[in-house]
Amino acid sequence: MMKWVIGNWKMNGLGAALTEVEKIAEGAAAQRPEVVLMICPPATLVASMADKCAATAVSVGGQDCHAAESGAHTGDIAAEMLADAGAVAVILGHSERRTDHGETSQEVRAKTHAAWRAGLTPIVCVGETEAERDAGRAEAVVEEQLAASLPDTLPDQTREDLIVAYEPVWAIGTGRVPTDADISAMHLKVRQHLEARYGKVGSAVPILYGGSMKPENAGAIMAIAHVDGGLVGGASLKADSFLAIAAAAAMATNG
Ligand code: PEP
Repeated sequence: MMKWVIGNWKMNGLGAALTEVEKIAEGAAAQRPEVVLMICPPATLVASMADKCAATAVSVGGQDCHAAESGAHTGDIAAEMLADAGAVAVILGHSERRTDHGETSQEVRAKTHAAWRAGLTPIVCVGETEAERDAGRAEAVVEEQLAASLPDTLPDQTREDLIVAYEPVWAIGTGRVPTDADISAMHLKVRQHLEARYGKVGSAVPILYGGSMKPENAGAIMAIAHVDGGLVGGASLKADSFLAIAAAAAMATNG
């Protein structure tokens, strides 16, 4: 059983922070091969981090891309540029992009196609707000986001070139996490959606949990059915905590 541990550095990290990824790469050498480790730094660090991580067990991803391949889009970055800089994946539709930049699920879908066009694995984020959960709408909201954010067909119907991250907005950066039962129920819903949409391949699409994952809670969360790993924000900034989560993921690969 594989597990994915993907760090989202958000808008954190200058060049000096690359020492942290060196430590992560050193620690990753001792990790089980069933655990996929990736860091998604700010765009300014993608190329230098990819250089540092070459020939290590750590890969590098972007945090967003534009849907177009090139053009008059000041400040934006094409998926092809991320790939050219050494990224292998890109986070799309993170709640901070949906909130700060008004990104819609339709835009996320277009960016997902762009990621595939450039040979990147899209990591598509979905998740409800606290008000939506309180109103009993969490599953409906996630279902709507999945329906609109994910393309109808995968580029290769025999391969799951897609990662989905369930990230309840109210759990991101707050120290609060849903109950195991709520995570379990939501991940099952996401799995059912992916299977209904993509058939057998949908069973193999990794579904990550994100939202205040820490070394202390990672083992229990990763042991929940249909939790294939974590998308980790704050705790990915330091090698010690990121590697501790990776170790928890390795334990969970034992089933
Ligand atoms: C995130 O932003 O993707 C995230 C999960 O953040 P944190 O782990 O800090 O809650």
